[in-house]
Amino acid sequence: MDFNKRNKYNLRCSFCGRDKTEALILVAGIDAHICEVCVEQAQDIIDDELGKKQLQEEDFSLPDALTPRDIKRHLDQYVIGQNEAKKYLSVAVHNHYKRLKQEEEDDIEIEKSNVLLVGRTGTGKTLLAKSIAKFLKVPFAIVDATVFTEAGYVGEDVESILSRLLQVSEYNVELAERGIVYIDEIDKIARKQDNPSITRDVSGEGVQQAMLKMLEGTEVHVPPQGGRKHPEQKLVKVNTSNILFICGGAFDGVEKIIARRVNTHVIGFKGTDEKEEIDREHLLQYITQKDIKSFGLIPELIGRLPVLTYLEPLDQEALRRILTEPKNALLKQYKKLFKLEGIKLQITDDAIEYIAEKAIEFNLGARGLRSICEAVMTDAMFELPSKKNVKEFIVDRDYAETKLSKSKLTKLKAA
Ligand code: ADP
Repeated sequence: MDFNKRNKYNLRCSFCGRDKTEALILVAGIDAHICEVCVEQAQDIIDDELGKKQLQEEDFSLPDALTPRDIKRHLDQYVIGQNEAKKYLSVAVHNHYKRLKQEEEDDIEIEKSNVLLVGRTGTGKTLLAKSIAKFLKVPFAIVDATVFTEAGYVGEDVESILSRLLQVSEYNVELAERGIVYIDEIDKIARKQDNPSITRDVSGEGVQQAMLKMLEGTEVHVPPQGGRKHPEQKLVKVNTSNILFICGGAFDGVEKIIARRVNTHVIGFKGTDEKEEIDREHLLQYITQKDIKSFGLIPELIGRLPVLTYLEPLDQEALRRILTEPKNALLKQYKKLFKLEGIKLQITDDAIEYIAEKAIEFNLGARGLRSICEAVMTDAMFELPSKKNVKEFIVDRDYAETKLSKSKLTKLKAA
């Protein structure tokens, strides 16, 4: 007897066998029927397969024609200054994609170009990494190295670095496997120089050791929700060979290490006459892997972060430009907010100069700009929406000074 039409009144779905009475809809074909549940499932399969195919076609073709100059030009739209870091990062990313496309015919294997960015807080390290990922349209995750401890101790396993990446990739492993991870505060897991040997350095060297394989490229079993691996949790296998890791840190005090090295070098290798003029105000530009090692990162880790570059502290001029020039500059954002209320916001040049001046005083890099701007703008943003007749608002230096002097920011500084 025909299974699909056992009898005229008892039709079934040819896929799942569901009876007509159990299905909401049964679509009839030439010689079969399908219920609404199976239609949906079939659609999912189609989406999955087509999506995969698209991913493969797109695979690494995106940056094909891109030159490092193109990448830098893009970064210029979002990040002010930091030319050296931009140049290094652009080349690293360019090579990263060349590496992904390398033919496996010869013995020369291009190694990964993971990056280490050294620079004070608020100089644009995260912004650089984020802007690169956005440009390449690859998943991007930021993690903080300080939450990790060696396996078996309280804290997160280093594998959970990849949990974030999986989450932003909506658990599409293939997508995650070509993403970018920014590991912040890498300097905080430096080996403690004066660590007494009786207490184990669980959050320092142990974590560095645990990171090695992941940075180099291996299959990692990742707890999808992050945190600690535990037996009940199903782990997801992620291959890190094509994931670009960008590490960043302030490396407080590294300038002293550089100064010491540069001084010995000058005395040791060159006569006083031909000694190179050292720019002592900007020592970071002379940074080498050796200084990072003296700071306390283990050589194996440094070896897996072959591209080393630095970010300059931001001066007043750079801060002024940050306020106005990037594509989503802070002041452009305020102008937009006011415009949405039907108000034209004008900020005079001397007010902008004043805000930059204060940010230098507070010594918070570009991070300070946001808090200062909030202190200056909040009253206006509170009052103006209820005053329907105001069509224009001008912030000049006097106004900014008055608002800032009343804010808790200045108290913070006095404290
Ligand atoms: P870091 O990672 O170095 O501590 P971030 O990149 O997180 O600093 O910067 C903090 C904020 O300051 C960013 O959101 C960005 O708006 C701004 N900023 C910092 N440096 C720059 C820069 N060079 N150009 C433009 N904006 C910057």
